[in-house]
Amino acid sequence: MPLESDIHTRLSLVRARIARAAEAARRDPDTVCLIAVSKTFGIDRVRAAAAARQLDFGENRVQEGLDKIDRAADLTLRWHLIGHLQSNKARKAAERFAWIHSIDSLDLLRRVEAAATDAGTSPQLLVQVDLAGEPTKHGVRPEELDAIFAAARECRAARVAGLMLLPPFFDDPEQARPYFRRLSALRDDLAARGVPRAMLAHLSMGMSHDFEIAIQEGATMVRIGTAIFGERPPTLG
Ligand SMILES: *Cc1c(COP(=O)(O)O)cnc(C)c1O
Repeated sequence: MPLESDIHTRLSLVRARIARAAEAARRDPDTVCLIAVSKTFGIDRVRAAAAARQLDFGENRVQEGLDKIDRAADLTLRWHLIGHLQSNKARKAAERFAWIHSIDSLDLLRRVEAAATDAGTSPQLLVQVDLAGEPTKHGVRPEELDAIFAAARECRAARVAGLMLLPPFFDDPEQARPYFRRLSALRDDLAARGVPRAMLAHLSMGMSHDFEIAIQEGATMVRIGTAIFGERPPTLG
């Protein structure tokens, strides 16, 4: 099957599954944004997905993302940085990505805000939450969220717009459900403590193998790679 129609077919299937999961949860499917995670794949796949009206793309590495942003500059796409952001790359990320899902410290939030102010950009930010305490995972602990959101209120260029979660991997996606539910509850707790709604509008959670469950638990952004683009080379994860 030619590359382009293959990606069209896979995208249609994923969109149909998102709509079905949303409707089953009595949610409007339009409240779930599909982010096509193109990491490790070439620009040809991005173009094939864009030709099928895919607008949002996710990358987990700054430099790889910037290369693709440049190479797709003729298209109007929205680029999301979904992987860990090192502070020395905060400037570039704040200049070029529309969304950064991986704000995982107060220091990083301040750097991104400073860079966005200098560059005259207004990136939307999500605070990545660490619910499992795995040493290899990034994210802020729930008890640090109040301090982050207090600082978020001071931001004038960047705009904090919600929370992001990367739960531990389970073969059985049902096992991720308690993590999704907990992120949703954390959002409600923050709202109850007076954090403005606009700062809590989004929950970025759910990947190829568990996005339907994430949608049932309130995801507004799902980050989907392999279900659209196929398997990645194992070492490049
Ligand atoms: C790679 C990646 C995804 C997409 O994973 P798939 O299993 O291919 O859908 C989602 N979120 C993050 C943070 C990723 O790094």
